[in-house]
Amino acid sequence: MYDYVIVGAGSAGCVLAARLTENPAASVLLLEAGPPDTADEIHIPAALNLLFQSSYDWGFRTVPQDKAAGQSVYWPRGRVIGGSSSINAMIYIRGNKYDYDTWRDEYGCDGWGYNDVLPYFIRAEQNSRGSSAYHGGSGPLSVVDPKFKSASTAAFVESAVNAGSVANPDFNGPTQDGVGFYQVTQKDGRRWSAADAYLHPAEKRPNLTVRTDALATSVVIEGGRAVGVRYLHRGSEHLARAEAEVILCGGAVNSPQLLMLSGIGPADHLREHGITVVADSPGVGANLSDHPIAAALWSTPKVRSLAELAGPKNLLRWQLTHSGPMTTNVAQSGGFVRTNSGLPAPDIQWHALPVPFRNGGLADPTDRGFSVLLTLVDVRSRGKISLRSADPRHKPVIDPGYLTDPADLEALVRAVRMVRQIAAARPLRKMWAAEEAPGWAARGRRVGNADRTARQHQRPDHRRRRTGSRRDLRPCAAGRDRASRPHPGRRPVTPPPM
Ligand SMILES: Cc1cc2nc3c(=O)[nH]c(=O)nc-3n(C[C@H](O)[C@H](O)[C@H](O)COP(=O)(O)OP(=O)(O)OC[C@H]3O[C@@H](n4cnc5c(N)ncnc54)[C@H](O)[C@@H]3O)c2cc1C
Repeated sequence: MYDYVIVGAGSAGCVLAARLTENPAASVLLLEAGPPDTADEIHIPAALNLLFQSSYDWGFRTVPQDKAAGQSVYWPRGRVIGGSSSINAMIYIRGNKYDYDTWRDEYGCDGWGYNDVLPYFIRAEQNSRGSSAYHGGSGPLSVVDPKFKSASTAAFVESAVNAGSVANPDFNGPTQDGVGFYQVTQKDGRRWSAADAYLHPAEKRPNLTVRTDALATSVVIEGGRAVGVRYLHRGSEHLARAEAEVILCGGAVNSPQLLMLSGIGPADHLREHGITVVADSPGVGANLSDHPIAAALWSTPKVRSLAELAGPKNLLRWQLTHSGPMTTNVAQSGGFVRTNSGLPAPDIQWHALPVPFRNGGLADPTDRGFSVLLTLVDVRSRGKISLRSADPRHKPVIDPGYLTDPADLEALVRAVRMVRQIAAARPLRKMWAAEEAPGWAARGRRVGNADRTARQHQRPDHRRRRTGSRRDLRPCAAGRDRASRPHPGRRPVTPPPM
């Protein structure tokens, strides 16, 4: 018997396990479906793409997306100690102030307004720039400026400024708008995951038990109360009982799946799979909101790409000194922009990469190229997570409903137009030879030919270029109403890895 059973040793689970066991009287069992985080590629920042579709990734895919040329989109999620913070792009980014305040003011999430959450960000953070009104200097989560900057990502920032953007040295400061280099969750040139920041320092505590390769299969509910978790560990079934609380930290895909497997979810859907209904909760699995990404890509034959720098020499350099190109998180620079001046907060986030980004990051970047990912952060389309079967080992059905709200496509089209203006400005313009994506087929005669560009972007061949997802949100529902129905307005951007 434990006091707390936590499912999932990802960003949230690592923080909770560490905080709860600060009290020596509280015992905690932390269950993680994946393995320990010992592999080199987890710790070498530039090895990020080796983690995709590896044994540390659930390797989800969406169902074919009607509004995105029928594609089934690759959807990475960490399945390892540290969860997605062990495979993510390490950008230290908080949500926009406007979004937290919307959670509080429109959804009734008391305690989640920006001024409520800011002290927690500050407490978590150990920023290499020191403490300030917006930053912490002595928390467990190491946040640093990048050690390595590529010529093309630096040129992106300069060109964006020349095209009219403001330079922003701190996206987590007073304002998010503008362009610059991202700060990253790293320490001494290594990834600094939630496990590094929270779990590993707590692991030796006698009141904390961490079980890897342990797949939670259902929450045990007795008398209307969650009292334990059933799980599979190395082929056999176990039951862990919790005296105080069961805490689900399985992430935005797995937590709703586990709730539904436990009889908590939309009653009709549960019955379809022969699951006894414990609580009819239509909000479970509903309102899935993911940030669609469109990739713009230019060939840069005269500029060495990051992939060329990732050879044995620089690997050795990283091993000896933890410096050089292998310290990069790849998505080096970027920023935030409003594609419509009337918006209350940015709707697009840029990610500039010194490599060609194809097939959701799964294609090996062998040629020379430069990409900008256009990530919609104010997403109106909604989707859902549902069960494929009552077998907990089966992946759930993920349908983010990409671009089902036409406003999302319109915003991405405006963003393409804007990024082309940046690419046409110096110094970037001198670096590239051709625009490979979206490419000439999706282009008006000149940049700024709004109608024609928009029409061409609605062709299926252009939509096929929209790629992956990183930041799924909301399918367990928050807010005061029973099902936390979707709101027509903008949505919160992702919470940061802790
Ligand atoms: C490729 C990628 C890049 C990203 N880049 C960034 C970035 O640069 N900056 C940023 O701020 N955010 C980024 N994110 C998002 C960020 O990492 C996530 O929002 C965050 O880590 C989610 O935390 P979580 O605790 O909700 O879930 P996770 O960290 O995903 O943790 C869930 C854990 O639960 C485990 N689990 C699930 N189901 C079960 C079960 N049934 N039994 C036992 N264990 C289970 C999983 O294996 C996993 O370890 C990225 C995400 C990805 C995938």
